[in-house]
Amino acid sequence: MRATISARSASGSSRSRSWLVWGAVQVFRDSSSQLLDRELPDADRAEIVARMTSDPKVRGVHQLRTRASGPYVHIQMHADLDPELSLEEAHHVVVNAENRVLKAFPAADIIIHPDPEDRAEAHGGAFSGDDHAGD
Ligand SMILES: [Zn+2]
Repeated sequence: MRATISARSASGSSRSRSWLVWGAVQVFRDSSSQLLDRELPDADRAEIVARMTSDPKVRGVHQLRTRASGPYVHIQMHADLDPELSLEEAHHVVVNAENRVLKAFPAADIIIHPDPEDRAEAHGGAFSGDDHAGD
């Protein structure tokens, strides 16, 4: 009688142990995908570039960086603009581009750095050589 009980409880505890491990793995997976920022998929990144460059005044995009962070998406990039645009014109071009991207990614925080096309020196700190946009 005693042996039967302990065998049963042993198999029960092994079952509950694997259940606990499985549960811990799920919790870790969920929390790590929320805590660790992830780059958006290539299709989303291509969508951002397409929306940016649908205005011919935006001649290219580079150093695109995206981070999905919980419910939000952080998007930053450099946009090549006509160097002869006034600051006010460049501002309008950038705001309109930002609004086009926001239509597809309403929960986005977007930073667009305008560059005068072919006249910008390399800059951008640790990511200055990172040309992810493929332009
Ligand atoms: Zn720049």
